[in-house]
Amino acid sequence: MTARRYFIETWGCQMNELDSQRMAGQLMAQGILPTRDPQEADVILLNSCSIRDKAQQKVYSRIGEYRLFKGERPQLRIGLCGCVAQQEGQRALDVVPDLDFVLGPARVGELREVLSRRDAGERVLATGFPEVRPFDLDAIARDGSHKGMVTIIEGCNKRCTFCIVPTTRGAERSRSLREIVKEVRHLLDYGFVEIELLGQTVNHWRDPIENLDFADLLAVVAPMAGLKRLRFVTSYPRDFTPRMIEQVALHSNICPYLHLPVQSGSNSVLRRMGRGYTHEEYRALVAALRAARADLAISTDLIVGFPGETEAEFQDTLQLVEDMNFTALYAFKYSPRPGTAAPRLPDAVDDVTASRRLQILLDFQNVIQRRLNEDLVGREYEVLVTGAGRQTGTLAGRTPCHRIVHFNGEPSMYPAGSLVQVRVDRALTHSLLASSLSA
Ligand code: SF4
Repeated sequence: MTARRYFIETWGCQMNELDSQRMAGQLMAQGILPTRDPQEADVILLNSCSIRDKAQQKVYSRIGEYRLFKGERPQLRIGLCGCVAQQEGQRALDVVPDLDFVLGPARVGELREVLSRRDAGERVLATGFPEVRPFDLDAIARDGSHKGMVTIIEGCNKRCTFCIVPTTRGAERSRSLREIVKEVRHLLDYGFVEIELLGQTVNHWRDPIENLDFADLLAVVAPMAGLKRLRFVTSYPRDFTPRMIEQVALHSNICPYLHLPVQSGSNSVLRRMGRGYTHEEYRALVAALRAARADLAISTDLIVGFPGETEAEFQDTLQLVEDMNFTALYAFKYSPRPGTAAPRLPDAVDDVTASRRLQILLDFQNVIQRRLNEDLVGREYEVLVTGAGRQTGTLAGRTPCHRIVHFNGEPSMYPAGSLVQVRVDRALTHSLLASSLSA
């Protein structure tokens, strides 16, 4: 009898990446093996993202493609998972008759049971935020990944006016320090040298039992034996405290890279977004972080065309980008999301204007980014291999400051997860070209 196969397609953030590893682990524990070809799969999972309307449309169109495989494989199971699953719920089952189940992000640990219920004939709706959520540390398919990811806090309580996350991921829930340390230890023993702590507002972590915050967590996790690189994502600017900055300065294995979404450089837009800080406060935080860690690289998220954004407010964003020297920027046109407050704000920005602003912003950032990358030519870095490069005989990796590096080497010599010393030869806008010094 041939083994059953699964195929998972993942969109969105690191939380979804980890959820896909958790679902893969549960399938493998039942003897269902991975395949790269959806056409030969018996179980197809679409782990979706609903941060923008486009991402949501994409997952529906993908389900439309995969359901055609049911003609030849009537036993094929198709599951909609992730944030669109939580947002759409029963509606997804109603509009897509071939969809077998809908599994929300807080129910990922129940995949096995959901599949058995489907086998018994039920089209399963598993969404919502139950108090008890199964989490099997041993059933996570971490193979092939260069980093060990550990969720420390789920959900978000902030309700920024543009964001759907509080609806799709629920209210904040921190895991205990004890559980987190146990999982980090497990990953280090398994051989990971880089650990990434995950949360929508990672630095808002609080131990549910003891009076401990994210600074205390860094103080415990960073010194753990075998941990060469510690990252955390995504930090919320307002939640950074001086004690956290001290920890970033204190531990050299905390990577000199932070993703710190600012969203806009205009105080009036930030107010309409409900972000709870001004651009002056954001600048002061970046200055304090850079004073603590001179080599710190910072990336950010920006939204253009937010309701009511004037040309002058957009210019404020360009000014902030010019002043901050972000090493990477993830910029998007505002996308109205169901259940959020921003679509009710007056003076929507038309798509032509938003597209023009986005292009100006990206072009502006490209010049800055290229210059910052050129400053790195001639420097040596220890690079964590992430996989094969685009060309034969090359590998891709990340510097501690999170730059993408392409360099000469073979996966047989340096598999994903290895550390390799390289020298930067050339700078591109979004990556560096380097030579390996380790051979
Ligand atoms: S902090 Fe704001 S943008 Fe971030 S997840 Fe929460 S609501 Fe969304």
